Amino acid sequence: MSRKWFIISVSIIFILTSYSVVALNDLNQITIPNEVETSSHIILHVDDAKTVASILKSDGFDVLYGSITSTSLELIVTPKELNSLQMRGFEIEILERGRPFIEIQKERIANSQGMLFPGYPDLSEIIDEMYDVESSYPSICKVYDLTETHGVSPTYEDRHIYAMKISDNVDQDEDEPNFLMVSCHHAREIITPVIALYTIEQLTKEYSYDPDITAAVDDYEIWISPVWNPDGYEYCYYYDNMWRKNCNPPNGVDLNRNYPFGWDSECSGSTDPHSETYKGSGPASEAETQTMIAFSNDRHFAKVIDYHSYGRVVLNGYCCHSHPFSSFFESEATSLSSAAGYNGAVGSPSAEGEHYEWQIWANGSFAFLMETHTEFQPSYSSALAEAEQVWPGTIWLFNRPISVSGHIVDSITGEPLVASINIIDASFSNGEEFFSEPSYGRYHLFLPPGTYTLEVSCENYYTWTHEVTVTSDSEEILEIELEGFNEPPNKPSINGPLNGKVGVEHEYTFTATDPNLDVLEYYIKWDDGYVELWAGPYNSGEEAIFNHIWEKEGTYTIQAKVRDEYGEESDWEYLEVTMPRNKMLHNNLYLKLINQIQILKSELLIEFWKI
Ligand SMILES: [Zn+2]
Repeated sequence: MSRKWFIISVSIIFILTSYSVVALNDLNQITIPNEVETSSHIILHVDDAKTVASILKSDGFDVLYGSITSTSLELIVTPKELNSLQMRGFEIEILERGRPFIEIQKERIANSQGMLFPGYPDLSEIIDEMYDVESSYPSICKVYDLTETHGVSPTYEDRHIYAMKISDNVDQDEDEPNFLMVSCHHAREIITPVIALYTIEQLTKEYSYDPDITAAVDDYEIWISPVWNPDGYEYCYYYDNMWRKNCNPPNGVDLNRNYPFGWDSECSGSTDPHSETYKGSGPASEAETQTMIAFSNDRHFAKVIDYHSYGRVVLNGYCCHSHPFSSFFESEATSLSSAAGYNGAVGSPSAEGEHYEWQIWANGSFAFLMETHTEFQPSYSSALAEAEQVWPGTIWLFNRPISVSGHIVDSITGEPLVASINIIDASFSNGEEFFSEPSYGRYHLFLPPGTYTLEVSCENYYTWTHEVTVTSDSEEILEIELEGFNEPPNKPSINGPLNGKVGVEHEYTFTATDPNLDVLEYYIKWDDGYVELWAGPYNSGEEAIFNHIWEKEGTYTIQAKVRDEYGEESDWEYLEVTMPRNKMLHNNLYLKLINQIQILKSELLIEFWKI
């Protein structure tokens, strides 16, 4: 081999080795589950497809929306599930095997015949884009690392979850209702981050130009998280485009079955770790779910939209639990669906343990799940067109009035209270909670038309009851001031001379405070038979000045207490005074003087004898 060919061969080997090292490094980012095979999209040919579909659904299989005909149904299955269907003797046709989405995207770009084709971003490109928008619109945009902000565990593959906050005065936590848009709980639903990014773009570019957008950004604290399942998204992008769950071993958890509400009920997700709808080892067992709970406990979202794909339908209410407002949710979902261009198509969720159901249950949120598009991974241009189509649905959500809202505060101090609101006329059977948040005491109620008695309660406060009448477009602001239980006043302080002279007037100042800021009266014993009998009224913290003359020499203990307007009394306070100067003190001085004279006398005598 000539020297020239040797150099060329070595160079080629070097380039090839470097390339494979780079490729391996890329793949090292992703943990491939124990099963190395990918998911499959299959069709089952059966006689009674509807019955088979409902049996398979209850067994935790992921039957594809709208795929059920009289003789067939489609599913996406894990390798173990495929195996179990084969064992059960089904006639199975494999339509497609899972493969890296990036391969599919490369093929699409190659087939686009040189047209400019940006394609779906991967996870790091999505996060980069969020930071780019933040730097372009710093006065209304801020990216939050929620994992860090809320001190929760990162995902199994050590990733953090991000959300973009969009609001005027974005650096401040303002007293405004919070709005949440979240995408991609399910990894393969890669159209949903595209919708979230499109929303971010609209809200920023059109702010101060479009009146609806300007009002939304000014009036809400808007939070948008494009990818709630970062491990799964990355895995779908670089390994298995049909991946649905997160990447927690052995085979991932369905994040939209892991929320605490209904987790343990008969219509929760699967208990089989190899099922597509495995609900996890316990309620909120997953870091992603824990992040959402911490984030939502902090934000107390008034409105929530959770994007999924596919089906072009708005899911509302619960699966098998009852909610007194279920028909209200359905009619609101119909309006949202119409606004999003889905012709009013609505549906019920397929299980309990879903994210938006938890928001309804835990935060009284106006929460819905929107199944977008008609496939998981349409062309990128079709995904963008879908984002444009559903955008009016987002505007509809912003503009939907909150039936009743306001603040709950302490009637005296004005401090915000976390109080619970009981809607007397509606029967909630699952422990649903309506309450005010701690930062401003802000609360929200979305109510069907009707008249309701609200009972607002908070520990150490009197329950407050009020009747409200709600119509379909009510936007009532109801500010609530709770009156605290009466607490006894604090014992007074006593200030004045500790000793003095008999027959002379002495001035003493008494000061007491009352936790409820009630008006106070003083009861003072001067210890010589005289008393001030409930003198007043004085305001809490106001100085009460009394003069007194002691007629006889002696040591006296002044005693004082106060009572509030409800007759609740403080403890006694004491002050010892001496009139006139203490006799013991006089005696001491006298003895000292005698002593000094004695010493002087002795010294004089000594001097005398010396002479
Ligand atoms: Zn989904």
